[in-house]
Amino acid sequence: MRKVDIDQLPDARGYFGPYGGRFVPETLIAPLQELEEAYRQVKEDGAFWEEYRALLHDYVGRPTPVTYARRLTEACGGARIWLKREDLAHTGAHKINNALGQALLAKRMGKTRLIAETGAGQHGVAVATAAALLGLECTIYMGSEDMRRQQPNVLRMRLLGAEVRPVDAGSRTLKDAINEALRDWSFHLQDTHYLLGSALGPHPYPRLVRDFQRVIGEEARAQMLEQAGRLPDVLVACVGGGSNAIGLFHAFLQDPVEMVGVEAGGADIASGRHAARFADPQRGRVGILHGVKTYVLQDAHGQILNTHSISAGLDYPAVGPEHALLHDIGRVRYTHVGDDEALAAFRALARLEGILPALESAHALAEAMRLAAARPAEHIILVNLSGRGDKDLDTVTQALQEELGA
Ligand SMILES: *Cc1c(COP(=O)(O)O)cnc(C)c1O
Repeated sequence: MRKVDIDQLPDARGYFGPYGGRFVPETLIAPLQELEEAYRQVKEDGAFWEEYRALLHDYVGRPTPVTYARRLTEACGGARIWLKREDLAHTGAHKINNALGQALLAKRMGKTRLIAETGAGQHGVAVATAAALLGLECTIYMGSEDMRRQQPNVLRMRLLGAEVRPVDAGSRTLKDAINEALRDWSFHLQDTHYLLGSALGPHPYPRLVRDFQRVIGEEARAQMLEQAGRLPDVLVACVGGGSNAIGLFHAFLQDPVEMVGVEAGGADIASGRHAARFADPQRGRVGILHGVKTYVLQDAHGQILNTHSISAGLDYPAVGPEHALLHDIGRVRYTHVGDDEALAAFRALARLEGILPALESAHALAEAMRLAAARPAEHIILVNLSGRGDKDLDTVTQALQEELGA
């Protein structure tokens, strides 16, 4: 594939090379086409993007800064580490960029209600926030087991005016909540927009979400030129579904910049207790999950495997289709970081820079620290700090119990 072609994807059928597409029941074809058509219209509509940019500026607090991590760089002893500070966006992560973009699009389409599913609750909070701001009704589906584990986010969503509906089916977690949300959507197509949270799912979602997250890389590119005087040598971002990573990478695809996506290595790769779709060729194979063809963690019979990660946002068996292509053509290198190394990076950033990163972001940070040690001092590594770590205090406290005396 020629370099320039990547920018033109997905194609008219929603494919990134062999990945992507729209694998859904008949009832969902029409609303997905309606969404695709609505987006095609606003894509050319300057007023829409002006309104979106104004919200990002006045409400989300964009542009988020880039920060040179001086003490962390000194501790690693090598290349300079810079951070793109999505942790400083309203609600504490990059997810709000996409939630607001899609909510605005839904309003344009005349929808009055948003639905979404959420695992750890971060996407649910972002959607509930966008709904409150734009005066839309909001229903969030959440597995009852996840609700138990993520009480503070349930409370946040309810305070923001959303209805949180517990899902008691199956394992009572994210994948059961996705099924319920899709069912709801197929019954309320007239007034409801299904707001998907990552660069995943059936066409046009991977493209929509990427376009709403592109602002991360556009800002970062200009900021690095201005503040560091040149482009970074390497970009590093964690990859759950892949939205913060594609958001950072996209603006740099035509530049001579190395890119690294970091998946959750969990406990270890051999045991299967991880969410590293690219690192485990035995389990991570091409398949279809939640409407999209991509790399999916599955057993020999094609049954979807349970995943594990200390960070809920990376704990998902499939990866966005654009990443699947970027992996195959070698434009982005994908690696993995385990629970323990992510925790160590979390602690390092807290002590050396005064920033508590999200555990997801700590995976990217850990890879950046490895790379920095191996690269010369003139090199610049830019890490996407996708979110802040306040949400992870319980998890981190439990993992570090003895040391923290908690
Ligand atoms: C949800 C989340 C992620 C993972 O999602 P992507 O779509 O891969 O970006 C990463 N970081 C934070 C802080 C999150 O909340």
